Amino acid sequence: PQLANQIAAGEVVERPASVVKELIENSLDAGATRIDIEIDRGGARLIRIRDNGSGIPQKELALALARHATSKISSLDDLEAIMSLGFRGEALASISSVSRLTLTSRTADQSEAWQAYAEGRDMEVTVKPAAHPVGTTLEVLDLFYNTPARRKFMRTEKTEFGHIDEVVRRIALARFDVAITLSHNGKIMRQYRAAKDPSQHERRLGAICGPQFLQHALAVSWSHGDLTIRGWVADPAGSRALTEMQYCYVNNRMMKDRLINHAIRQAYQDQLKDDQLPAYVLYLDIDPHQVDVNVHPAKHEVRFHQARLVHDFIYQAVVSVLQEAGT
Ligand code: ADP
Ligand code: MG
Repeated sequence: PQLANQIAAGEVVERPASVVKELIENSLDAGATRIDIEIDRGGARLIRIRDNGSGIPQKELALALARHATSKISSLDDLEAIMSLGFRGEALASISSVSRLTLTSRTADQSEAWQAYAEGRDMEVTVKPAAHPVGTTLEVLDLFYNTPARRKFMRTEKTEFGHIDEVVRRIALARFDVAITLSHNGKIMRQYRAAKDPSQHERRLGAICGPQFLQHALAVSWSHGDLTIRGWVADPAGSRALTEMQYCYVNNRMMKDRLINHAIRQAYQDQLKDDQLPAYVLYLDIDPHQVDVNVHPAKHEVRFHQARLVHDFIYQAVVSVLQEAGT
């Protein structure tokens, strides 16, 4: 159990949702405006992500997979070796070492698409011609098939899909301009259309957070110096119904931040004598030099250099929204 716990804490490729997150981030990095995600059996059988991004040139395909040629992650030692190299820059190689991964891609200046996959102990990469529009498809079959310890940690299909859905929601809330679909076992579960302009943002907000959040949402838009906060907080009635809905982005990265939670809660308490943490979707923009971000893929932590200032700024923003709304 100790080894199992350590592996569980490793969080490199913790579960299907972490694969989905890495792959969507790659698609976004490639400038995709449309991302289609297909999942079978909670991601244990299949994760397929297709984008219309810039694609990968034929001569770089093998490199994208083989950068870190681990054959298997079957012991803690192997796992730690991978982690110590930093998971960043190693996502495809890591995922490929614990699944059957196929990469198919075409750039705009290639007339042909190419497909790459790695196999065997040495993760030898094979590249061959394929059919694909400009963009990339990553197909991950049989995740953890060669790492029984990891596979045992996968929960039910429904639970794993729930985690995937949550990853997709978070990203969809950060990128209103990107069209995203998510299907499970052949059935379309989510379909987020791209918002052409900010007037369409509430449509996606409603699609992700539900009509109830939308109905109770108070818009936030507040600036001071080089701090800006935008988004929505739910009024107390909405918040009581949606207790788990706290989405916070710092410079468009999803964060879980105690300081921000505290500032918002304090504002509700002082204004409304309401003691619970409200539901919210908020975007804080701040000079990147004023924050340290823990880039560990699973942590989402941030430290503000001027914590007091940021706290008071958010507090003020929420207080003023509550006063304006007359709640
Ligand atoms: P990182 O994203 O940190 O560079 P990854 O292992 O996630 O490392 O990806 C390796 C490389 O493969 C990326 O740097 C990028 O060049 C390429 N790549 C991966 N996915 C895509 C994609 N969907 N579209 C275009 N290029 C991609
Ligand atoms: Mg990546």
